[in-house]
Amino acid sequence: SAQAVTSINPATGEVLSSFSPLSPAATDAAIEKADARFDSWRHTSMTERSRLMHAAADVLDQHKSEYARTMTLEMGKPLAQAVAEVEKCALVCRHYADHAPQYLADQVIPTEASQSYVRHLPLGPVLAVMPWNYPFWQVFRFAAPSLMAGNVGLLKHASNVWGSAMNIEAVFRQAGFPDGCFQTLLIGSGAVEGVIRDSRVKAVTLTGSGPAGKSVASIAGDEIKPSLLELGGSDAFIVMPSADMDKAVKTAVAARTKNNGQSCIAAKRFFVHADVYDAFTQQFVDQVAALRVGDPLLDTTDIGPLATRAIRDELQAQVDATLKGGAKRLGRLADLPEKGWWFAPQVLADAPAGTPGADEEMFGPVAGLWKVTNLPEAIEKANDSVYGLGSTIFTDVESEMTLAIDSLEAGSTFVNSMVSSDPRLPFGGIKQSGFGRELAADGIRAFVNRKTVSIA
Ligand code: NDP
Repeated sequence: SAQAVTSINPATGEVLSSFSPLSPAATDAAIEKADARFDSWRHTSMTERSRLMHAAADVLDQHKSEYARTMTLEMGKPLAQAVAEVEKCALVCRHYADHAPQYLADQVIPTEASQSYVRHLPLGPVLAVMPWNYPFWQVFRFAAPSLMAGNVGLLKHASNVWGSAMNIEAVFRQAGFPDGCFQTLLIGSGAVEGVIRDSRVKAVTLTGSGPAGKSVASIAGDEIKPSLLELGGSDAFIVMPSADMDKAVKTAVAARTKNNGQSCIAAKRFFVHADVYDAFTQQFVDQVAALRVGDPLLDTTDIGPLATRAIRDELQAQVDATLKGGAKRLGRLADLPEKGWWFAPQVLADAPAGTPGADEEMFGPVAGLWKVTNLPEAIEKANDSVYGLGSTIFTDVESEMTLAIDSLEAGSTFVNSMVSSDPRLPFGGIKQSGFGRELAADGIRAFVNRKTVSIA
């Protein structure tokens, strides 16, 4: 039988709990249960689904401290951010409970026929392969629209957050969703291929790293099943002379360091106009150095540990190679606790092309900083990346906004604020950041059959 999977508190390095992965027979039984449940769930009314999804939001609100604490213990995000994450999950549940009927209404398209329209029908069980950085949000962003559309969900969560994975299954159970609507599969990544290839599973969505995405999308392609990928990012953050400098700096610090710097839509590469470079840099470096690193359960903490030892070691190797390649570290490093997977927030200036700091995603509190002489240069550098998730520009000049919006190669451009997801707005990337869109109407239509109906 498979080995137990342990979750380790990244703030202390101590074992929190241990889980037994599902056997192949138990995995098969769970897929069978999902398939059987789909037969009835697909015929439930929108009113009924809506009632249950509102109940799920209420369960999230009632248990938010408990769920948040488990997230913080498992992956190290500051507790206040974990609480906010659970609240945002309640928001996305209520959003789809209220808007799914409109998003999925028949779309009438007049033709010579007496009636012609598109109807949105569910596909069946959908597999979600999800990461540890937002253990609740990444899952609810998929689950709320998918269940409202009449699909059922199977979750393969990252192996370091299985306590959270069990909590998520409990949310739907306690809300009253019928058994089998949403199940957590405690399986390792090696068992994912079998689930995707199972004929009862109709589609797969993945949020995570490039290698995981390539593997999952290739297998889905081989099976001719739809897939959606939300992968990494190395978002650009451009600062122009007209920007409100205090606001730009404050936003830059938050955008780089929220969630301990482990966010796909974190701003990672900062391109600052020469006219304001010194002013921006001094404040930015000071504010990054002033962040309080420590126990993520304390509300005086800004930055907790990185999620795993492997992630900490990898980031350290990227930073070392970037410094060796010619980048300069600006400012001082915070003192770190001894045990656990800590990393001091820092700014690396002028990382040359060919170093990890310029070319790769840095999944932790490390900001890359470059001076640019004009906006076209900033845009060219911003686009010189394999990724295309989000992007930000701070400027008060309308023509600069327009140029940035039209030219930045990214799934979103935010002007004078940080990139963030919102249930009302589509979310996703281009290039190696993935394909498909979640949230809003796009998100609920990601895994449906848009059936054309024509009645003569
Ligand atoms: P992974 O992509 O490895 O993990 C994400 C999920 O995919 C987990 O559930 C994982 O399971 C699963 N998985 C991993 N490999 C495969 C595979 N070959 N087939 C099927 N499923 C797989 O992310 P890591 O935790 O290793 O993080 C590494 C990097 O990924 C980060 O440094 C960051 O660059 C990026 N990342 C991006 C995220 C985003 O929000 N876009 C989120 C997390 C990471 P298991 O845990 O069991 O291995």
